[in-house]
Amino acid sequence: MIEDHRGIWVFAEVVDGNIAGVSLELLGAGRELADKLETPLAAVLLGHEVRHLTDPLIHHGADEVYVIDAPVLKDYRTEPYLAGMGKLARMHLPEIILYGATPNGKDIASAVATDLKTGLTADCTMLDVDVDKRLLEASRPAFGGNIMATILCKKHRPQMATVRPKVMKALEPDASRKGTVMEESLDMKEADIRTKVLEIVKGPGKSVNLEDADVIVCGGKGMGDEQGFQLIHQFAETIGATVGGTRDAVEAGWLSHDHQVGQTGETVTPKIYFAIGVSGAIQHTVGMKNSEMIIAINKDPEAPIFEVATYGIVGDAREILPVLIHAFDELLK
Ligand code: FAD
Repeated sequence: MIEDHRGIWVFAEVVDGNIAGVSLELLGAGRELADKLETPLAAVLLGHEVRHLTDPLIHHGADEVYVIDAPVLKDYRTEPYLAGMGKLARMHLPEIILYGATPNGKDIASAVATDLKTGLTADCTMLDVDVDKRLLEASRPAFGGNIMATILCKKHRPQMATVRPKVMKALEPDASRKGTVMEESLDMKEADIRTKVLEIVKGPGKSVNLEDADVIVCGGKGMGDEQGFQLIHQFAETIGATVGGTRDAVEAGWLSHDHQVGQTGETVTPKIYFAIGVSGAIQHTVGMKNSEMIIAINKDPEAPIFEVATYGIVGDAREILPVLIHAFDELLK
């Protein structure tokens, strides 16, 4: 029965022995939803020798942590993780489960959805709840990104969603928070599992690290051509920023896909984000709208980028940037 389900869960992903940033961000989002629904927020921690990681989960907002600590959970594999999640969900009947939209988060979320015969909304950019109906409102770009769709799962529980890293905000950790840790076992032996992890080989690193950049200078199609785009590189270099680009700038061949910000690129939350010659299409803004400060330069005063900008400069970027570069050069001498 749907009414028997209570509580919001966050799948706590472990990466290199630590809780993944996205899981802490989801605890921040989950805390807000749990408070609205007046229900506990729990983190689900699966792994081997991970008991010490329950504290950070509680400090970041969890009221409860369900832990299964078993050798078969040392490295992520669908079978044992699904067995663990399935067991816990059947025992404790959560009403909502949130996962990071990482490769492992997406894998476990879809496996759990199939196992529990429930719905899953992938790559959400906004989460809310209808308190009266106790429905998760999971929003994401749809139909080629032309509209934002809010998706409900009315007839099945748990309601589930994946959310990309950097979309939600983690709470400041509060070391004085107390929570309950509940440990369960997993009745599964290595011999029961078909997949074996023989070696973990890290892929080549990205050529740019947009995710951790404090300041990003993002150029769009409005820079006109490759030569115009050089002003973006020059400005970024002058102020010590990382270069980003819109999909149209990437498709024009002015920079590589590693630099793309947005729905099919990176989600970023720098302290300062310059959007220069960028129109502000929704597929772009979903990837940068949570930046602390957004400064837009666009010659069209009606450009949608100004709706998310903290400060806006209306004018020709090809005239404004050389002035800014010169001014910062002088200032930083
Ligand atoms: P435009 O929309 O062409 O805007 C150029 C802007 O520059 C205009 O506002 C114009 O007024 C201004 N301008 C022109 N000349 C000047 C000048 N001299 N000085 C100042 N301003 C000037 N886009 C992304 O960015 N990231 C994504 O991840 C992404 N994923 C997508 C996924 C899907 C499924 C789809 C359908 C689209 C996606 N897009 C993505 C594309 C997105 O819809 C837009 O087409 C794209 O963001 C527009 O790029 P732009 O702002 O550089 O170009």
